[in-house]
Amino acid sequence: MSDNTSHGPSASLRTDTFTCVRCGLVVAALAPDNSWRNHCPSCLNSRHTHDHVDGGVSECGARMAPLSIAVLRTGEWAVVHRCTRCHELALHPVCGDDNQLILMRMAVRPLAEPPFPLEVFGDL
Ligand SMILES: [Zn+2]
Ligand SMILES: [Zn+2]
Repeated sequence: MSDNTSHGPSASLRTDTFTCVRCGLVVAALAPDNSWRNHCPSCLNSRHTHDHVDGGVSECGARMAPLSIAVLRTGEWAVVHRCTRCHELALHPVCGDDNQLILMRMAVRPLAEPPFPLEVFGDL
């Protein structure tokens, strides 16, 4: 049997919280499903604290706004965030208690607003 306390965060990290820069919600960094979150479950905004291009810590620190949904190879959803200051893009896995209304709204937006007329499909 493997020791499952060696996985996952230590006890002190379990109480880590951050305050959402957009809606002010105090968020537990450890989601109920034991995954780490870096975006707010209510408004899905994040903060640019990680440099996704070069790796490591980013000096930016600006708000990252949710832009759209990406479906990973595993079938899981991820939120595409874009930094409101430096415009860096990042993918963050969706957590179980993320705001499903906002997720669905982002997921259907391209279908609801196609850049071409849907009538073309009627001729196929
Ligand atoms: Zn928020
Ligand atoms: Zn940034």
